[in-house]
Amino acid sequence: MPDPATPATPLDRVPVADLQRVGPRLLARLARLAIHSVQDLLFHLPIRYQDRTAVVPLRELRPGVTVQVQGQVSEAQIGYGRRRSLKVWLTDGAGAADQGSESGVLLRFFHFSPQQLAALRPGVRLACYGEVRQGPNSLELVHPEYRLCGADEDAQAATEPRLTPIYPSTEGLQQSSWRGLTDQALALLEQCPPGAYLPAAAMAGFVFPDLRAALNYLHRPPLEASLEDLTERRHPAFLRLAFEELVAHQVSLRRLRLAHALTPAPVLGGDGGLRRRLREVLPFDLTPDQEHAVAEIAADLARPLPMQRLLQGDVGSGKTVVAALAALQAIESGRQAALMVPTELLSEQHWKGLGNWLKPLGVEPVWLTGRHKGRERTAILKAIAEGRAPLVVGTHALIQEEVRFADLGLAIIDEQHRFGVHQRMQLRAKGAQEGGAPHQLIMTATPIPRSLAMTIYADLDLSVIAKAPPGRTPIVTVALPDERRAAVIARVQDACASGRQAYWVCTLIDESEALQAQAAEETAAQLKDLLPGVRVGLVHGRQRAAERESVMAAFAAAALDLLVATTVIEVGVDVPNASLMIIENPERLGLSQLHQLRGRVGRGAAQSHCVLLYRAPLTAQAQERLALIRSTLDGFRIAEEDLKMRGAGEVLGTRQTGTLAFRVADPLRDQHLVSAAQRAADLILASHPDLVEPLIQRWLGRREAFGVV
Ligand code: ADP
Ligand code: MG
Repeated sequence: MPDPATPATPLDRVPVADLQRVGPRLLARLARLAIHSVQDLLFHLPIRYQDRTAVVPLRELRPGVTVQVQGQVSEAQIGYGRRRSLKVWLTDGAGAADQGSESGVLLRFFHFSPQQLAALRPGVRLACYGEVRQGPNSLELVHPEYRLCGADEDAQAATEPRLTPIYPSTEGLQQSSWRGLTDQALALLEQCPPGAYLPAAAMAGFVFPDLRAALNYLHRPPLEASLEDLTERRHPAFLRLAFEELVAHQVSLRRLRLAHALTPAPVLGGDGGLRRRLREVLPFDLTPDQEHAVAEIAADLARPLPMQRLLQGDVGSGKTVVAALAALQAIESGRQAALMVPTELLSEQHWKGLGNWLKPLGVEPVWLTGRHKGRERTAILKAIAEGRAPLVVGTHALIQEEVRFADLGLAIIDEQHRFGVHQRMQLRAKGAQEGGAPHQLIMTATPIPRSLAMTIYADLDLSVIAKAPPGRTPIVTVALPDERRAAVIARVQDACASGRQAYWVCTLIDESEALQAQAAEETAAQLKDLLPGVRVGLVHGRQRAAERESVMAAFAAAALDLLVATTVIEVGVDVPNASLMIIENPERLGLSQLHQLRGRVGRGAAQSHCVLLYRAPLTAQAQERLALIRSTLDGFRIAEEDLKMRGAGEVLGTRQTGTLAFRVADPLRDQHLVSAAQRAADLILASHPDLVEPLIQRWLGRREAFGVV
């Protein structure tokens, strides 16, 4: 084995495979997180920290705090309330004889195995870690982490001397592995300093720790580090890294923009004929916001530089028709247009919907997804390659190797947040004939404030549809406590009996998809029992994409009445007949996410309702948040509030998709760093071109690989 400790090897060139106890399986899991080198590992930073430095006596527990406790199981039983759960009473083991003076807490498990049930028997001693909540009768820890401990193990043995880092992970990778890996990486860091990619002038005015000290601090907070400082991410170690990351993003986006400006694009003036005819067949007039966006796009397309424009508009604001007009402008000019969307079902809906509008004009959209195979596929590919397909609608299948366009003039991407920069670039590359590039229109339903958009999408121009078309029946949103569940279920029964459809969205505190899926499965089973005659479908993130899509398609075709789902339904299907949505535990979701979910209803003629089925008692903040959701349907307002409360990463959905992902920085929280980061990026591009590549590689890694076109 090569000696990874050779000081001369920079850490970005030491593969993680050189570390101890890294076999092929671990390697594959790390690769899923784009971790290939020791440097990648060092820049994979904890998302949070736990305080296991003390064992808190049970009598001192308070709701809302996350603690480590120890005690003895005094009783364990399965509760058959509204929801089956395993209830385990933990006391601090002073002994039953010590009547009355004993304190306790209830551990509650909604998901448990027979082995767990057998292990958690009275008399067993446990060390637990979790958040204290006020239950109906006592304080509770819901799904705490726990381990059995020996009778002789004292409280001290369970504690850790310093805050415990928790790393963002992937299936099959335990926190203990992360600690082992980062221990080794930090040891190597001692021998070899990290590359310095920010010139001193770029950091003028800041007092930052050096990079090595910052990495050490964040991976292994010293004994005196404060959990609050770390959680709030305002420690200079964080700021040092956040700043560098912001600079890296700016450098990468600006470089893209500069590259675009050097590439010629076809001039798509068009004669306006097809567009005029589309406006004639449309059953509505465009709103002023739509007209404005159409005009901005039309002007861009008529220029010999590739358009890079983001069209922002809330769910239902009418982005599709704007895209259709742009596509027609390209087609009028004798070029092809392509529309890429994240799911097969959505691509089908767009293909059909656009077909209804465009076929009367003699423009027949072509549909391409992974589902198209064999002869059919060959024929579609041939039509695209020979230029007989003026408009191609499809999924990721559009960016596959074999797809060749005769003359792609405009690439449109819908639901941008589901794609990475590189996928955008791959589609763009499909039109790169003779060194040129197609125009790009990127659409998003995440309504973020303009200033933030300018930071995140520094390579794009921006068009906004702020106001939805008139004449919609606003969705009525109500919040009900979980005690009213039976009444809510009766309401679902009524809606389905009268031929309407409904969504039931399950959410869980736990981030793991496995538990989410399990909760949705259980809820679906229960609702099936309680709602005889109602056809219930289930979608969650653990299903294969094909299975999920076929359930969604059945729901869209009204072959199912009720769709039980995790938050995977957030993106885009249009089922106008669905007019009721129940969202469980809405207090756990961000406002923007709630808003996006709610946007699945309210698409048809019938009055739509959204029921937020919360678990009482709500904190004051949660009450405020749900009140806001109930009081407005304005996505921009909701996004602003959400940003204030939670920060940009959450609002943009990066935690779920990992596409836009900032690792440390949050462009909203770290706003005060943004303009300095922009200046630093300019400085680096102008005076330190040798730093550009390593900086981008460190922070964006392979994600930027397609940036250089
Ligand atoms: P999104 O922005 O979420 O993609 P869509 O483009 O799907 O929204 O539009 C939602 C609905 O509104 C569609 O049924 C569309 O035909 C309709 N629509 C779009 N523009 C207008 C308008 N100006 N007046 C009335 N209805 C419109
Ligand atoms: Mg849409």
